[in-house]
Amino acid sequence: MAILQRSEWYDLARTTNWTPKYVTDSELFPEEMSGARDVPAEKWESYDEPYKVSYAEYVKVQREKDAGAYSVKAALERSQMFEDADPGWLSILKAHYGAIALGEYAAMSAEARMVRFGRAPGMRNMATFGMMDENRHGQIQLYFPHEYCKKDRQFDWAHKAYHTNEWGAIAARHTFDDLFMARSATEIAVMLTFAFETGFTNMQFLGLAADAAEAGDYTFSSLISSIQTDESRHAQIGAPALQILIENGKKEDAQKLVDIAIARAWRIFAVLTGPSMDYYTPLEHRKQSFKEFMQEWIVGQFERSLLDMGLSLPWYWNQMVDEFDYQHHAYHLGIWFWRPTVWWNPAAGMTPECRDWLEEKYPGWNDTFGKCWDVIIDNLLAGRPELTVPETLPIVCNMSQIPICAIPGDRWKVQDHPLDHEGRTYHFNSAIDRWVFQQNPARYRDHMTLVDRFLAGHIQPMNLMGALQYMNLAPGEIGDDAHQYAWVERYRNHPYQRKAA
Ligand code: MN
Ligand code: MN
Repeated sequence: MAILQRSEWYDLARTTNWTPKYVTDSELFPEEMSGARDVPAEKWESYDEPYKVSYAEYVKVQREKDAGAYSVKAALERSQMFEDADPGWLSILKAHYGAIALGEYAAMSAEARMVRFGRAPGMRNMATFGMMDENRHGQIQLYFPHEYCKKDRQFDWAHKAYHTNEWGAIAARHTFDDLFMARSATEIAVMLTFAFETGFTNMQFLGLAADAAEAGDYTFSSLISSIQTDESRHAQIGAPALQILIENGKKEDAQKLVDIAIARAWRIFAVLTGPSMDYYTPLEHRKQSFKEFMQEWIVGQFERSLLDMGLSLPWYWNQMVDEFDYQHHAYHLGIWFWRPTVWWNPAAGMTPECRDWLEEKYPGWNDTFGKCWDVIIDNLLAGRPELTVPETLPIVCNMSQIPICAIPGDRWKVQDHPLDHEGRTYHFNSAIDRWVFQQNPARYRDHMTLVDRFLAGHIQPMNLMGALQYMNLAPGEIGDDAHQYAWVERYRNHPYQRKAA
C-alpha cells in the first residue's frame, strides 16, 4: 500500500477541532483550564507549530534516543567514573537529579493539561509529544541515579527530594507549582515552554552537558544532551500561542506571564546552576562562568526571542542582569554554610586558584564574598569548625523560598523588601520577588516558608536537629564539605596572596 508523505496529510490530521453537541464549548474548555482569554476558537485555529512531527516519526526518533543514552550507560557501567570523579562533580549529579527528576513529572502533568485543554489543535498535538518527552525525562533521570544509591545514599534523593520539606525541595515545588501545575493550558505554554524552557533549561542542560564531557562523565553528558533535544522541540509550543495572544489584544497579559515566569526561573537557576558551574565543577573542567553563560543564553539569545516576539523586556531586566554578578555567589556561600540542610555535599570551590578565577571572572569578588570565606578559612585553620556551621535558620524570601541574601563585605548590599498584606508581613529578596507576589496576592499569601513554619512551632525541637528531621535528612544524607576540608590545608602557613587588580 502506498504511504502518503507527511506533508500530504499533516495539515488535515492536526486540525482536530469539532463542534460539541452534548455540552457547551465552555464546558468542554473551561476558562480556568484553557486560559483562552476570550480569544475565539477560530483564532486559536491559526496556531502554527514550527516543529511538525508525526506519531510514527516521533516514536522512531525517541526509541533511538533512548537506545543511545541507555547503551552509553551500559557500556560505561564498569568504568571508574564514580570512583575517579571529583567529589564536586558527584555533588552536581546529586543536586541535579534531586531538583530535576520529579520536576520532569510535574512538567508532564503540565503538558497533559495542554493536551486536553489547549485551545489550538496543533498545540494539543505538540503537547502530546511533549507529555511523552517529560515522562521519558522523569523515568531516565530516576533510573540512572538509582544505580548509585548502593554506593552513596544521597543519590536516593533523586526520588526522595520532592516528597520532603527540605528547603530546596520547597523552593522548587513552590516555583514549579506556580509555573506548571496550577496554571491553564495557555499560561503553561507561555510560562513553562516559552519562558522557562526556551530561556533557561538550556543552561542546566547544555551547560552541564559540556562540563560533564569535560569532566569525563560521558553517561551524564549523553543523558542530558538527549533530554535537551526533546526540550528544544517542545519548547516551541509557546511561541505560536504567544503570537495569538499578542495579535488578539492580549499583549499586556502575555507580558505579565512572561515577566513572572522569568523572575521565578532565574532564582531557581541561580541557586542550582550557579554554584554547580562556578564552584562545584573542578576548575580545570569549567568551560564558562555562570555569568558568561547567562550573558550568552539569556541576554544574547533569549532577549532576542522576546523582542522578535513583539514583547518588551521585563521591567526588571537590568536589575536581573546586575544580579548575574552576585546572587549565585551569595546562594553558594549560604548553601555551603547551611550544608547540613542539603542532600548533597557542597564543594567549597575555594582553593587559591579557584579564588583567582573568581576574581578574574567577577572583579571585586575578594573584597565581598572573599571576606566571608576568609573568616571561614581562619576558623577551620584554628580548629574551630563549629563556628562554620549554622545554629539557626536564615530569613527566607516569601516568593523564592530561598534565603534573602546579596553582597557582603566592602560593597554590602543586603536588604529585605517587606510587604504588609492583610495583617501579615512578608519578606522578599528583591523588588522583583515582591512584584510577583503583588500580581496575585491571593495565590501566594497563605504559603508558609520554612522559617514561618519554624516560628509557628511546626518544627520540633526548635533547633537545627529538629529542622533536619523536619526536612527528612537522615544520617548519611546530611550534607558536608565535598572534599572533607582538604582544600583548607592549602592556606596553612600560606596566607592567600590576592593578585593586584
Ligand atoms: Mn523535560
Ligand atoms: Mn520540557
